[in-house]
Parts: sequence; C-alpha cells; structure tokens
Amino acid sequence: TLTDRLSRLVKTMRGQARITEDNVQDMLREVRMALLEADVALPVVRDFIARVKEKALGAEVVGSLSPGQALVGIVHKELAATMGEGIADINLAAQPPAIILMAGLQGAGKTTTTAKLAKHLIDKRKKKVLTVSADVYRPAAIEQLKTVTGQAGAEWFPSAPDQKPHDIALAALDHARRHFFDVLLVDTAGRLAIDEALMAEIKDLHATLKPVETLFVVDAMQGQDAVNTAKAFREALPLTGIVLTKLDGDSRGGAALSVRQITGAPIKFAGVSEKIDGLEVFDADRHAGRVLGMGDIVALVEEVQKGVDVEAAQKLAEKLKSGDGFDLNDFLAQISQMKKMGGLSGLMDKLPTQMTAKAGAADMDKAERDMKRMEGILNAMTAKERRQPSLLMDGKSKASRKRRIAAGAGVQIQEVNRLLNQFDQMQGMMKKMKGGGLMKMMKKLGG
Ligand code: GDP
Ligand code: MG
Repeated sequence: TLTDRLSRLVKTMRGQARITEDNVQDMLREVRMALLEADVALPVVRDFIARVKEKALGAEVVGSLSPGQALVGIVHKELAATMGEGIADINLAAQPPAIILMAGLQGAGKTTTTAKLAKHLIDKRKKKVLTVSADVYRPAAIEQLKTVTGQAGAEWFPSAPDQKPHDIALAALDHARRHFFDVLLVDTAGRLAIDEALMAEIKDLHATLKPVETLFVVDAMQGQDAVNTAKAFREALPLTGIVLTKLDGDSRGGAALSVRQITGAPIKFAGVSEKIDGLEVFDADRHAGRVLGMGDIVALVEEVQKGVDVEAAQKLAEKLKSGDGFDLNDFLAQISQMKKMGGLSGLMDKLPTQMTAKAGAADMDKAERDMKRMEGILNAMTAKERRQPSLLMDGKSKASRKRRIAAGAGVQIQEVNRLLNQFDQMQGMMKKMKGGGLMKMMKKLGG
C-alpha cells in the first residue's frame, strides 16, 4: 500500500532539510503508483504529479516537518483541491420550476439518484418536486422511476415508451408550471456505450428545457474509461455538476479525480447506498484520503516518524470502523505502542492514570513502572478475558477472576479495578473517535 511505501521513504528522507529535485522523485513515483492503483486515468495522473512537483519544489519546509511530511501534505491538499473545495449544493436559482437534467451512461445510477435528489430537495430545502422519465427505450425504466419517486415522497409525471423524449419533456414542464412545482427532475436514457443518437437526444432535451443544473452521473467503480465517458458528455452538454455513485463499493474512487479534471464541473454529491437516503454531499478532503488509500495521511506519516507501529494502529482503526469493539487486547496493544512512542511526559496528562502532568525524573520512573504494571495485569488475564472484558466487569465470577489476576500480576485487586476503569474510559473515547480519529488521538497522546 501507499502507506508502507511512504513510510519507508519518509524514513530515508529523514534528516534532509529541503524538498529537492532529487529527493522528490522517489516520493512522487509512489504517489503516481497509488493514483494509478486507484484507477485515476493516466493523463490525469501526469498532470497532477506535475502540479504537485511544481508546488513542492517551491515550498518551504516549515518547523519540525521533514521534506517527506511536507510533500505528503502537499499531495493531500492538492488532491482535495483538484476534486473541489467547499460544498457545492444544488443550484435552484431559476424561475420555477428549476429544472435538473440527469445525464450519464446506462447503469450509472441516474434513476436512483433522481429519486435520492428529490428526497434531498424535499427534506433539506423544503421543495415541491416533480420527476419525469424520458427513458423510453426500456419499458421498466419509467416504472422504476415511479417506484423510487414514491419512496422519496415526490410526485411523478407519467410518460410512456411510445412518446418522444422531447414531447415528454414539454408535457412535464407544462404540468410543473401549472401546478407550481419548485423543481422538475428529468431522468434520461443511458446507453451502454456512448452513441451519436443518445447524445443528439440529450442535447435536444437540454436545448428544450434549459436546465439550471445538468448533472453528470458517474459510477465510482468506472476506472480508466471514466475519462472517455466524461469527455463525450462534456462535449455534448454544459455540465454543471457531477454525482459520483456507488462510493459504498470498494473502489478507491479515482474516477472522481479524472471526471472532475476532464469536465471542470464540481462534484456535488456522492451515492453511498442503493437506498433512497444514500446520498451525501461530496467531501473532497475525505475523498482525497480514500484515493490515496489511507485516512489521515499527514498524521500517519507523523506517526511513522515517532516509531509507532503503523500497521497495528491501522488494524485497530479498521477494527473500530468495522464496528467490532475495542477490547483489552487492544488496550494492551495501545500500551505497547505508547511505550514505543517514548514521549511519556506528553502522554501523562492525557492518560487516565495516576501519573502526574509535570514529570520530573522520579515521576517519569513511576510512570514507566505504572505502565509496566498495567502490562503485567493485562498479561495475567486469559486471552478470553481480554477479548471479553465484560467477564471482569459484570460477569458472575468477576470477583474470583480479579483475585486470580491480581495474584498473577503481584498487585492489589484495587489496581486491577483501576485498570478496568481506565479501559472503560478509553473504550468510550475510542467509540467517539472512530477510525479516522485514532491517528489524531495517537498524535495527541504522542505530545
Ligand atoms: P441508470 O441506468 O443510470 O438509471 O442506473 P440506476 O439508477 O437504474 O442504477 C443502476 C444500479 O445501480 C441499480 O441497481 C441501483 O440500485 C444501483 N445504484 C445506484 N446508485 C448506487 C449507489 O450509490 N450505491 C450502490 N451500492 N448502488 C447504487
Ligand atoms: Mg435509469
């Protein structure tokens, strides 16, 4: 993964004071690989790398940052900036009804997204929304829109396979005007591959309806092909926004970068499930991390430098994200990581222990000893107890278990209780932080 590659490089780059032509090359090669792995189209990758290089060579490496850290920061920021900054909501600034035209290949998610958008506009913007399907080629398509529109709580304008898309559009617009709809969402046909007839048809719809938004719906799983699709639609239509669907899949979503670069249109929404409420406002910063294959890349590199076991930390982050609980095994792992981070004085005011904040040499010693004792206690537990802390907190035999553990570790039972309290607090904290926050927390703990 990029994480491994970068960690290695950051280590070799440590001690160098500036980003230079020399040391930037290796790093950029890794970034390039990561982007290609995420299915960003080659020409887009080239452009991106060139921009990053230019910025990096001009950049000052500030404070305690190494060139490696500085570069990673630049990559992340540039990635987020390329995919759009700030939040771009739907534009409804038009004489009502504001018309939104949906465009994209067959299967991209146009019909689903039409209904999701209808729901979004009803719930968040309190609009009266009408949908209509101009997809006359597949008989089921019109029915599909009817069904999902119902789920969205919007109104659906009937159309039929023997009508012309042009006529459907005019009839729906007339209905929307006469019944004072705020928004008219027009779902269109998509083909499996781009063809002239399809493009001519949607161009005509655009000219007829003069939509305030023309949204290009694209499947995030689309790899290199996304560029050609985006080019074809950009040439046919003045796109005003992109909806990236199926981000709940396991693709790294590199298509976002390609499509954004090719069309120049902002990515407005992300589809994150098949369900009617599975639409989110696109978050470029978060998506940058996904494309690069990691959460908070900058924080991560910093941890690498502190000697934290990144792999273990990531495993833990994954575990938390997947909803499995934080158990005493993880607590034990955390303690050994904190030991590795060295900076115990920084840990002390954060850790819920008896350690004092302003540590002299003697306190430091005590802190180290506390840590060792905690480790000792955890090691005196059985694997099952560590996996299932409830055995010790509210199990029937908790008293005898704790007696056994205290004896095994050579401590008083109160100390075992104290550790369990600390674990309880930590677990609460972990739940709040979830995956991405873990790195930040460790950074904080590292001082
Ligand atoms: P269209 O041909 O462009 O109208 O595409 P559809 O809206 O019919 O969607 C094609 C398939 O993709 C359907 O099975 C949808 O349920 C599914 N789909 C659409 N958006 C998403 C999404 O964001 N996540 C997931 N998992 N599936 C989606
Ligand atoms: Mg459809």
